[in-house]
Amino acid sequence: MKLADKISRGERPFVVAGPCSAESEQQVMSICKEVAQNSSVKLLRAGIWKPRTRPNSFEGLGEIALPWLVNAGKATNLPTTTEVANKKHVEAALKAGIDVLWIGARTTVNPFAVQEIADALKGIEIPVMIKNPINPDLQLWLGAFERFEQAGITDLTAIHRGFSVYKHAKYRNVPSWQIPIALKEERPDLPIICDPSHITGRRDLLLEVSQKAMDLNFEGLMIETHPNPDEAWSDAAQQVTGDGLKDILSQLVLRSVEVSEDLQGMMKELRTKISVLDDRIFEILGARMELSEEVGQLKRENSLTILQQDHWKQVIDSRIENRGDYRLTQQFVRQLMDAIHQESIRHQTKVMNTKKQSS
Ligand code: PEP
Ligand code: MN
Repeated sequence: MKLADKISRGERPFVVAGPCSAESEQQVMSICKEVAQNSSVKLLRAGIWKPRTRPNSFEGLGEIALPWLVNAGKATNLPTTTEVANKKHVEAALKAGIDVLWIGARTTVNPFAVQEIADALKGIEIPVMIKNPINPDLQLWLGAFERFEQAGITDLTAIHRGFSVYKHAKYRNVPSWQIPIALKEERPDLPIICDPSHITGRRDLLLEVSQKAMDLNFEGLMIETHPNPDEAWSDAAQQVTGDGLKDILSQLVLRSVEVSEDLQGMMKELRTKISVLDDRIFEILGARMELSEEVGQLKRENSLTILQQDHWKQVIDSRIENRGDYRLTQQFVRQLMDAIHQESIRHQTKVMNTKKQSS
């Protein structure tokens, strides 16, 4: 049976676990044996070649570490997966006997690299998991699946690992759940595994993101695990021990998947989508307030009043005029804009009243 079918049809969540990077034979074997005791763990991961954002961080041990992962797979009777980013990686991984390949976020973003890997796999039957690109571009993600399909690779799974942001806020990579949800709408045949480790960057947030993924009906989770997470050579803050993984999985609440049969379930799914949209509204309002503070700074430097009556009237009029596309009433848009304006004035007043730093 295809891996994608096992993930879709098997018990949820299908868990992929193992270290961010393979560091030693002993490290890979010990953590893989530990996580394998958990029956939800169905696939072992370890990074062999690490795509790092900046040079001079640990870039993976390379080929020497492939047999460590393969041996851990044999010892636990579980299949193995690693990230490949070019043809050489593919050839080495296949030769070593890795069972499943995954394409990293920094590779999905590059159609040349994706095509090179797809071409290297022509005529070979192997499951491939594709992480979302680091930028929030659904088309690029869809395009990567299509490149593999055109090369004859049809056992495909998506991994949602969040999207890069300029400044880290709560999460290392913002989940932008609307994108994997849109992927599910376009390609309901592809199972989605959520990678809360790379979304959060912090082990204390893994449970809440894993729970959200389950509530959105994602099929699986990829969670980085390490015998001694704080000492990990890469992604130390987000890795958990085998016990940490067990804790997270035992606390997950799994709601009914049979949503269409059950009105209650359908309502839950819709409400979860609504809460995702609410999060986006807050994200957008936060960004709006930041811009408004920048305007406040200019007003302060140029001794302008906070309230510019004519400008505000134009803003209200244009928003009311544009509202038609969104099926919103004039009264609602007026109230909403007034509330936003009040909050914006509060932010600008704060900027206005900040004492100048004495130089
Ligand atoms: C990883 O899974 O270790 C990894 C590098 O992930 P990503 O491509 O999501 O950054
Ligand atoms: Mn990692």
